[in-house]
Order: sequence, then structure tokens, then C-alpha cells
Amino acid sequence: MNQREDMRSHVEAHYPILYFVTFEEEIADSLIGDLAGSRKVLEWNMGRGYVRFDNKVPMGPGYTDLSSALDNWLDQPLDGHFLVVRDAHLALRDNPLAIARLKALADRIVRDDDVVATIFLVSSQRLVPPELERFITVFDEELPDEAEIGEIIRRYCDDYGLDADADVASKLMLAFRGLSRYQITLLLNRGYQRDAQIDISDIELVIDEKKQIVKKSGILEMVSVAEGMDDIGGLGALKAWLEQKAKIMANLLKARNFGVETPKGAMIVGMPGCGKSLTAKATATRLGLPLLRLDIGSLMGRYVGDSEANMRRALMLAETVSPCVLWVDEVEKAFTGVGGGSANSGSEVTSRLFGHFLTWMQEKTKPVFVLTTANDVSVLPPELLRKGRFDEIFYVDFPKEDERAAILQVHLRKRKKDGSGIDVKHLARETEGFSGADLEGMVKDAIEEAFLEGEAELNVGHLRASMEKNRSHALMMQRKAKEYRAKLKEMGIRDAAGDDSDASTPMSPLLGVARAIGVDNLPQ
Ligand code: ATP
Repeated sequence: MNQREDMRSHVEAHYPILYFVTFEEEIADSLIGDLAGSRKVLEWNMGRGYVRFDNKVPMGPGYTDLSSALDNWLDQPLDGHFLVVRDAHLALRDNPLAIARLKALADRIVRDDDVVATIFLVSSQRLVPPELERFITVFDEELPDEAEIGEIIRRYCDDYGLDADADVASKLMLAFRGLSRYQITLLLNRGYQRDAQIDISDIELVIDEKKQIVKKSGILEMVSVAEGMDDIGGLGALKAWLEQKAKIMANLLKARNFGVETPKGAMIVGMPGCGKSLTAKATATRLGLPLLRLDIGSLMGRYVGDSEANMRRALMLAETVSPCVLWVDEVEKAFTGVGGGSANSGSEVTSRLFGHFLTWMQEKTKPVFVLTTANDVSVLPPELLRKGRFDEIFYVDFPKEDERAAILQVHLRKRKKDGSGIDVKHLARETEGFSGADLEGMVKDAIEEAFLEGEAELNVGHLRASMEKNRSHALMMQRKAKEYRAKLKEMGIRDAAGDDSDASTPMSPLLGVARAIGVDNLPQ
């Protein structure tokens, strides 16, 4: 049953309140108008009070507070009416009188056989006061699927006598996902106005539109990225894996038709400064998709239900903007102790947030490629690491010798130094235990020193001097690494190749770099 028919059956069965969550008022209007048929529709909105449903013209002064508007409706014979309340989440928040009157109205509809009416709450956010829970049925706006989007594009091209190239249409179908019919038509209009055709360049317009949506929401951050895969030194296994997923994401429709599943994403854990954030950014560049950063800590709201509502909005938004990369940064900070025995485990809100995130990860079908990064996997609830949530879990350790050489080369190249005359291999040998960030720091400091000394070129002496400067930080991190590896060992997380011979020796590469940990080895 489609959503319209589902809502119709709720109206016919006299459900008192239907809560429609949508960013688009036009869709709500078209749906309610269609369901109303010959019924009379009364509408209230927060800015103007009572307005005419068809043209939104105010129907007289007063009643801008929802509680007084509802009081007035309570006094009217409402049989055969639709009552529409816009901006419901704003109007109901901190408004106990409005909640009480809405409850009284719903109660009347339920009890009084002479009042056959339906209340529609329309809002961009879901806020269901507990007092109203039993009266409310929530409907999230259903957006057109790829087949319907394809149909909209085809019809548009037919109407304007345009050629719809199959490849362009299939790429646009994917890009338009998450937008409403109305938004899609507007974008097609803009694309057509630019150059009298619908072509691949119109995808830019779609990405801009989606950027706007994210900016307006204020709940996810759109990260600008300049880094590419070439900026990552080492992490060979991770890069090869991402390359495979990139090929699937670039041909998602074809891949799906072939039976390939939409990639879910990966969890990347490991020591600070070893390239987790860098990988998230480079992945978005490689996939050619927007990068959205989700800071779970920032979702915590002041009111009961706010945090969950924020999480739902954030994930819904990521789906709306999809295909995209969703980067959940430092996830362990938000989830520390959930369900475990630690001091924070009492936090019900965090548990519920976590539960919602897990279910979404498990069930999501939209092309949101999730990269979750964490420093300390041992504090994460094992459920997060269970099979099915992520396609793969990578452990990023301190770089090995050849990787250190590659990282040094990356940072020399980025600073316009070609490394000629510098024995990078030798330096790599002498920097055991340095993280990628330490190596970057070493190159940065050396170049600055060379400049201040007025040298024409950077030489190995500058690099050696700054290597010693950075060594103490590297050693400090190694001590932390030792503790962390011990915890990994306790959790039963092993090197996929079985090389956990001497996990307690700080300098030993326990797991190598970015090797996939066999997910089967993880605690269930
Ligand atoms: P944290 O857990 O502290 O956020 P992280 O693992 O996310 O650390 P990044 O922010 O990715 O670390 O790395 C810090 C800096 O170190 C990056 O800006 C990058 O320049 C450099 N770096 C780290 N690893 C690599 C690498 N493998 N190749 C090139 N540069 C690297």
C-alpha cells in the first residue's frame, strides 16, 4: 500500500491524529487536499493563526497561540472536518495547555460517534508529547524512488522534446534520490534553462541543492575536502578495499541489478594521528560524493526526546542527501559505556540513541556510505562491531617502515619538495613508532627551519633535527599504544594474519597497518 492509501485507510478508520513529517508544505497540502475530498479543511499555522487551506490567506486576527485556537475548535461542531496544524513541533513545545487541548479534541473524536474528524499535525520535525502518544500515528514523507524519478525525468524530457541519454538518466536518477517531486522538477527546470538540455553537468545543481539542505538543517556539517587517495601514505589494504567500493558506488544501479549489495561502509579504529580522518576525507573525494560529519555529542538536546529526534533528523537528512559519505567521528566518545559496566552506562538517552543508530545501520538501504572512526575500540559496545553493521572493520596501527617512507614523500610533495637528495628510506628506518601526524610535523618543522636559516633547499640535516624534536611525542603515544593493544588483546581482537606474537612490545607492528580484522573474531 502506498503512503497516500495508507493515510486514507487511517482517516477512514477514524484515527484521530495523523502526524506528517515533511520538509515540504506543498506535499502535505496536496496529500491532505486529496484525502479531504468533499470534507471541510480548517487550518492553523503559527505565524498567521487560522488561514484558508487553499491559499493560506489569514481568516481574521487572533488565535496565533495554538492553545486558544484549539479551545475555539473544541467549541465547534466538527463533524466531517479535517483540522490541520502546521509547525506542530514548534507550537507544541513547552505548551502544556495546547497539548492538553489537543488531547481533549482527540478524545472527543475517539469517543463521540457524531464527530468524525481527523487532525493533521504537519511539521519538519517529529515531536510527540507522551500525553498524545496513544492518539498519534506518524507518517514520514515518502520520497519518490528511483523508478519514479526515472519516470519524472522521462516525462520532462518528452514534454520539452529532449533526448534523455540512458547513462545520464541513470546517474541523475541516483543523484535526485532524496529530493521531492517538486524539488526534482525545479532542478530539471534550472538545468534546462542553463543550456536547453538535461545532461550530466546538471548533477552539480543537485549537489548544490543538497548542500543547501544540509546547511539549513544545522545538524550535520558539510565538510569541504581537498585530500585525495594520493595524499594517504601506506594503508594499502584499506585503500584497495575503498577502491573496490568506489567502483560499486559509481555504478550503483548496474551493480544492484547484478545483485551486488549497496556498500554500507567501514569502521576505522586506531591510534590518533594515523590517518583515520584523512581516510574519511579522501574517500569522499574518491567517491565524488559530499562528506557529512556527524558529531553525536552535539545531538544531545535539552528536552526529553530531543536527542532521539535530532539523531533521527540527522540520519534522515543523510538519507535525503544520499548518495553521500557520512563520517561519524570519534564515535567512542558518545557511546562510551553504553550497555557496559562503566559509570556512564546509566545514561538512558545515550542507550536509546545508540540503539537507533544500530538499527539504522543494520537496516539502511539508501546509499549512505558510513565511515565511523574511533581511537579506542575497547570502550565501544560489542553490538556496534557485530557483523552486518559495517562491511569491514579496519585497525590502523602506527605505520611500518615502507609506509613511513611513503608518508614522508606525501608531505614533502605537498610542500613542493621532490625529496631528491634526501634518503627518505633511511629516515623511515630511524622513525620507528612515529605516527603519520608525527611524520607530517617532522617535515613541516624541517621546512620551516630551512626557510628561517635562509637555505636554498631543504636538506637531510633539517629533517634529522626535527625528527629528534618530534620523537618525544611519538614515544609518549607509543606508551598509550601499548595500553590500547593490551585491551585489544583482552577483547580477543587479533591480527587477521594471526600475527599477535608480541603485542606488548611497543614497537612491534601488532596488526600491521589497516589490515581487516576478521569480523568473526569480534566478540558477539
Ligand atoms: P585522531 O584520532 O587524533 O583524529 P586521525 O587518525 O584521524 O587522528 P588524521 O587527522 O587523519 O589522524 O591525521 C592527522 C594528520 O596526519 C593528517 O592531517 C595527515 O596529514 C597526517 N597523516 C596521518 N596519517 C597519514 C598517512 N597515512 N598518510 C599521510 N598523512 C598522514
